[in-house]
Amino acid sequence: MERNPHCKTSCPTQDHTNEADCWRENMPMFVGVSPTKYGWDQTKVKKDERELASYYGAIRQGIEPRSTQQKDIDAAVKLSNDAGKAFDGTTLKFKD
Ligand SMILES: [Zn+2]
Repeated sequence: MERNPHCKTSCPTQDHTNEADCWRENMPMFVGVSPTKYGWDQTKVKKDERELASYYGAIRQGIEPRSTQQKDIDAAVKLSNDAGKAFDGTTLKFKD
């Protein structure tokens, strides 16, 4: 496959028209973080960092939220607490 100058070498598709798109698509943890021409949107980054912290906190307990969004994390943690089992958002089932 031809190397795209906007893409990282590790990018599997090599079809991005700018570097930010390539980063976003290859690093799902940064979804929703939009670089502006003045740099990264710090408000958004801070919010995402907080979400990521609760996301990884849930993961450590065996819970798998459907996404890194706070509402999905909260839902997965609540379901897990209610059921007394870790909730797996990818299969929508509880782990035994
Ligand atoms: Zn790319």
